[in-house]
Amino acid sequence: LELKGLTKVFRNYGTETVAVEAFDLRVEKGQFVTLLGPSGCGKTTTLRMIAGFEIPTSGKIILDGADVTNEPPNKRNISMVFQSYALFPHMTVEENIAFGLRIKKLPNFEVKQKVKWIMEIVGLIGLEKRRPEQLSGGQQQRVALARSLVVEPSVLLLDEPLSNLDAKLREQMRIEIKRIQKELDITTVYVTHDQIEAMSMSDLVVVMNGGRIMQIGNPFEIYSKP
Ligand code: ADP
Ligand code: ADP
Repeated sequence: LELKGLTKVFRNYGTETVAVEAFDLRVEKGQFVTLLGPSGCGKTTTLRMIAGFEIPTSGKIILDGADVTNEPPNKRNISMVFQSYALFPHMTVEENIAFGLRIKKLPNFEVKQKVKWIMEIVGLIGLEKRRPEQLSGGQQQRVALARSLVVEPSVLLLDEPLSNLDAKLREQMRIEIKRIQKELDITTVYVTHDQIEAMSMSDLVVVMNGGRIMQIGNPFEIYSKP
């Protein structure tokens, strides 16, 4: 995944907000990259442009060697997990996870096979028939991850995925997300304002402020700079 000079300016009621400015980043296959910075620094906007929910004002997004800057979200092989998980409340766990495969009109046996495969990896076996309201916060998060990963995206986007969990569960899910990411070797862009998450999970940390990149490097390089 490559971002070249990515810029987003919001124009509302005569005011202009430069949310992201001249953002350059190259993410290698299997890399875990974290965008770290305070609220309002442009993390979510960057993620939403990668996913295709926002069209950049200027700049380019290259995915698997192709320019997808102007492609709609469903034409990009990218999955995003939202802060709120956005699970379908009336569907069971397995129906939630199967959703993306059903849209792709995969044959039934293949849907079942893939759902079982990803449920094992994320640790949801036994919860197939539950509805989201019957799950703990951590379990709901696993469903959201499974639903995103089952379609085997080139890139996984995670927007503050741990912010709704209590401290103990946060630590547990940090370890789980890392394990799953390694096991699937999935290229991941992770957004957080939490330094501990960034330092403990990432191969590469991008420190943002005011829509710009302030620092970029591995956790050790970032940590050892003032
Ligand atoms: P972060 O995710 O780091 O908290 P955001 O990307 O959400 O930051 O926001 C970056 C800046 O862009 C903020 O100043 C925010 O108010 C502004 N912004 C984000 N989305 C919009 C929008 N749809 N319209 C106008 N301004 C926006
Ligand atoms: P986050 O913690 O993810 O940064 P925000 O509250 O910044 O959450 O953004 C939530 C949603 O609201 C996003 O879709 C963002 O684009 C939108 N948004 C953020 N700031 C503004 C704004 N000033 N005007 C309009 N929409 C905004």
